[in-house]
Amino acid sequence: VPVIVDDDAKAAAVGEQWFGAGRNVSNLLYLSIGTGVGAGLIVHDSLYRGTHELAGEIGHTTLDLNGPRCECGNRGCLETFVSTAAIFGKAQNLLGARVMDAGPEAALKELHRQAQAGVREAQLIKDETYQYLAAGVTNAVNFYDPDLIILGGLLPLCWPDLMDEMRRRVQGKSFAFASDAVTLVSSRLGTRSAMLGGASFVMQAVLAAPHLVRERTKPAAG
Ligand SMILES: [Zn+2]
Repeated sequence: VPVIVDDDAKAAAVGEQWFGAGRNVSNLLYLSIGTGVGAGLIVHDSLYRGTHELAGEIGHTTLDLNGPRCECGNRGCLETFVSTAAIFGKAQNLLGARVMDAGPEAALKELHRQAQAGVREAQLIKDETYQYLAAGVTNAVNFYDPDLIILGGLLPLCWPDLMDEMRRRVQGKSFAFASDAVTLVSSRLGTRSAMLGGASFVMQAVLAAPHLVRERTKPAAG
């Protein structure tokens, strides 16, 4: 059986363009914010992969030369400030073992609830996360100048004020945003975007080589 293996953020970008928030948009950037920060860039309706399939590693752009060590070997990558591991590292005392054991989604929602309830430390952790994330999104807008940026992954799902905070914080920091030329929206497919994008890769492979399907569905001889 032929197997297609691909990056989840790239698949999610295609999923959103085929079925979700990016329909009828030719140039878009999908950013997944969760355990890491991944990206999928679609340029003139095609997924841009880069020469070595490594395009979109926005999570490893440097935001602080003296920042925390990242698993990639560099310091101060975007991921070291906004990944769920970075957030939970700072929020250990606030959340406690029982919340952490309930999984990352429950823990992120609890942190948001505490911030809403006025817990100062929770507010500061969210604010710092938004500060670095806005810098990352601004860099992405300035690099790629897309029509649309779609934010997906666990963080936008669990923190309902994330989209408004990003619009507010990125506005005025990027050339394209200043002229209202780019739109920032949340994923419409949520956790299904990568799965639907993966399905679209299979459909594209079949359309490109229909004989593969015909050969596999031929009745057995004899
Ligand atoms: Zn890194």
